[in-house]
Amino acid sequence: MDELENIRKEDTKKETDKKCPQCGAVMTYKPGEASMYCQFCEHEEKVELEFNFDEAAQETEFNPTIDSGQCQWGSETKLIICKSCGAESVYDSLQVAESCPYCGSVQVMEEKGKDTLSPSGVCPFEINREKAEKLLREYIKDGWFTPSEFKEARNKPMHGVYLPFWTFDSKVACRYRARCGFEKTIPKRDGSTQIEVTWRNTSGHYKKFIDDWLVLASTRYKDPAFKDVKFDTKKNVKYKPEYLAGFTAERYSLPLTDGWKEAQKGIEAKLSKDIESKIRSETDADRVEDLSIESRYRDITYKYLLLPVWMSSCTYKDKVYNFVVNGQTGKVYGETPTSWCCCCAAVAAVIILLMLILPFFGIPI
Ligand SMILES: [Zn+2]
Ligand SMILES: [Zn+2]
Repeated sequence: MDELENIRKEDTKKETDKKCPQCGAVMTYKPGEASMYCQFCEHEEKVELEFNFDEAAQETEFNPTIDSGQCQWGSETKLIICKSCGAESVYDSLQVAESCPYCGSVQVMEEKGKDTLSPSGVCPFEINREKAEKLLREYIKDGWFTPSEFKEARNKPMHGVYLPFWTFDSKVACRYRARCGFEKTIPKRDGSTQIEVTWRNTSGHYKKFIDDWLVLASTRYKDPAFKDVKFDTKKNVKYKPEYLAGFTAERYSLPLTDGWKEAQKGIEAKLSKDIESKIRSETDADRVEDLSIESRYRDITYKYLLLPVWMSSCTYKDKVYNFVVNGQTGKVYGETPTSWCCCCAAVAAVIILLMLILPFFGIPI
């Protein structure tokens, strides 16, 4: 069978295969507590978690000219035999942590595969499922124009996932040129005014250190909400399989070189903004146009981090709404549907209010 040929056997990590010493149940990582926890007898074991420099992920030198296209996992699947119940489960090759569908044991897989990079660091979950669910409920309830049926609808249970990210550091030196426009208001004979712009060329240098520029290294999550999540990457710790126990984790599917290209796009956009405001403050210009930047990147380094999010979705009127809760901070991202009835009612209320108030200020309506 063709399908079977694509299945590769893989092993799980010893650290997460061990069970609760008191009752033998599955132990999972307890967010915020940095420990492995048994839900049945509440036995807890500390995971060594130190935020010192030696424990944090180290930067690796990056050479953008070397193609590291080691992401061709394709449709390959892998077979994991559960060490607790012996059941065999087939996972897709991107998954690195899952729970056994039969007995719930945590399965953190080895980072096998010749070209696979293993994560440099992890930012462990700090917010637990209950807290994430509560924050999401509040977020949806607070939406002014969210239809009430949506507020009352039940979200699917939250799912904790470690998403793969590339982070890049670099020193950037820029040379720029632009045109500055200075506006002058000229009164005209008929009493009206006209704006006259005088243009001057400008050029200069700008330097910046880019620190931990994040790029989502997964091609699976297309919802823009995933790209907006901000993490405190300084709180990363060296990768240990224990942090993944009880969660889902995925390995990168965006190659490192593509990640750098994407980072550069974002960095260039940020540099343009920075340089524009630099020009405005230095020259007092009213307009900045034709800005061209030549940038040189030096000392590029990267890290491969697994970062925590809680995910949930809700289907409303045949459309799926995705929600992401930052597993570190609890900030909620995602769009809620808009009730046009509420919107119109709000606009009508504002108009009526203005009609009542304005005559008091002597403004005719
Ligand atoms: Zn136990
Ligand atoms: Zn099992």
